[in-house]
Amino acid sequence: MSRGMYSVPKAYNEPVLTYAPGSPERLELKRTIEELRRQEMDIPMRIGGEEVRTKDRRSIHPPHALRHILGYYYMGEAAHVHRAIDAALKVRTGWQELPWGQRAAIFLRAADLISGPYRAKINAATMLSQSKNVHQAEIDAACEFADFLRFNVEFMAEIYQQQPISAKGIWNRMEQRPLEGFVYALTPFNFTSIAGNLPSAPALMGNVVVWKPSNTQIYSANVIMEIFREAGLPEGVINMITVPGPVGGKVMSTHPDFVGVHFTGSTEVFKKIWKAIGENVMLHNTYPKIVGETGGKDFVVVHNTANVNQVVTALSRGAFEYQGQKCSAASRAYIPRSLWTEIKEKMVADIQSFKIGGPEDFTNFFNAVIDEAAFDKITSYIDKAKGDPGTEIICGGGYDKSEGYFIDPTVILTEDPHYVTMREEIFGPVLTIYVYEDEGFEDMLDLVDKTSPYALTGAVFAKDRFIINLASEKLVNAAGNFYINDKPTGAVVGQQPFGGARASGTNDKSGSYLNLLRWVSPRTIKENLNPPQDYRYPFLEND
Ligand code: NAD
Repeated sequence: MSRGMYSVPKAYNEPVLTYAPGSPERLELKRTIEELRRQEMDIPMRIGGEEVRTKDRRSIHPPHALRHILGYYYMGEAAHVHRAIDAALKVRTGWQELPWGQRAAIFLRAADLISGPYRAKINAATMLSQSKNVHQAEIDAACEFADFLRFNVEFMAEIYQQQPISAKGIWNRMEQRPLEGFVYALTPFNFTSIAGNLPSAPALMGNVVVWKPSNTQIYSANVIMEIFREAGLPEGVINMITVPGPVGGKVMSTHPDFVGVHFTGSTEVFKKIWKAIGENVMLHNTYPKIVGETGGKDFVVVHNTANVNQVVTALSRGAFEYQGQKCSAASRAYIPRSLWTEIKEKMVADIQSFKIGGPEDFTNFFNAVIDEAAFDKITSYIDKAKGDPGTEIICGGGYDKSEGYFIDPTVILTEDPHYVTMREEIFGPVLTIYVYEDEGFEDMLDLVDKTSPYALTGAVFAKDRFIINLASEKLVNAAGNFYINDKPTGAVVGQQPFGGARASGTNDKSGSYLNLLRWVSPRTIKENLNPPQDYRYPFLEND
């Protein structure tokens, strides 16, 4: 029971720490990395407060140091998905009836734990298990995750405050009911913050959740569960299971109490999930909400009025930070002939200066890709480009998986604007460049719009305002996050709500109120303060 109209603490973006030599955060993080490397973490599933292990124990290795063991997790099966759903449904009523301020406090406390005492641990776990350098881990696992939690609390309060008007003698109200069943959260390997946000956003809105993290993110997913428990999240509200994706997907889509899926991952998997849900619609008690943020083929368009150094930095960072494994990573660039020689020279010099290796050595800018399947897929594109006519590898092209999954940052130059690496998501450190004739800028914008099925992020670099306006208009549907004179990566919660349309997802904008609205079912209540007592209207009277 609430006895006040509470306002929530003002959300803010967690400041990004520098980890410069000698800083206290650097010392603590290095100590934590050492400590984690000395242990072998045992990671059970978490179902309704129980730790669940199976006979199928699997080892976890840093992608950059394959001989090292970080720990073990246990692969479950369909029965575990059912158990997790039952555990969630068991606590549903209690969780829904808890006043929203109590739910808010749990997640605000989790944000403070992440940005405080757990900062080093969640960063270290992300660096080791997902091969992120310290800066990439800090902006993801510590800052973005804390931002998601704090801003979502603020958005929840704003949503609850939205009320209908009331005519004289009437009181109209709107309440935001949690959904009537369980939400299934499916998360990708590449962002610890997304892994934390996808189960917690529906839970904050009063829902119960079964969460299946990616197999290659389980090590830091375990830290997330530790933080949620420490913050006081009741057992059973978020249940973490480690099962094969399709096994979990089948149980989810055929369960009558399935009310929504919160997905981030590949377009291919999302389309399979959507199809399975559609095929089973007769089984569901309600129409499930389908929220999915998926792949991208993100572009950088350069006009000849652009500043060359700004373009070069945007490409070096935008295409290669976190080894290009960001859904927003620049992966195709359109450069005017007049600027190409200068851009090429400076960009190649930048890329060749990247130091490559494990993130434990803080001087390494560039680390390994996530796993063998990703390594094999990415290198198959590189090998193809080496043999194809009309394409040239102007930088990188080498790879080696003897110690870890290392692929050199690679730039392909193509004469064919429809070449396969201009169209398909590679999800690795591969940038493809097409050089256009300066006078063909406007036609080139049509090409950018039509080349790929995705529409996630994109950037235009120009000084000329008419050109910026032209690109913004012609590419209006080509990107859900559009950047002017900036790289297409690095969206910040509360500042650039994130998501794309076309094959890139349902564009429900994580990190905004729009996403939270998907996890509630509004109920409108009309109360008549002065109910009529006679059915006859005045017009029925005789003249
Ligand atoms: P993925 O699609 O391989 O896996 C995502 C999740 O789905 C995993 O937990 C996986 O186990 C599960 N899964 C796989 N098959 C399934 C099935 N048949 N049924 C149910 N679940 C299944 O994605 P990934 O490789 O972990 O992540 C990379 C992808 O994520 C890229 O395509 C990237 O663009 C995308 N991504 C998008 C955004 C965004 O906001 N748009 C953000 C991050 C990543």
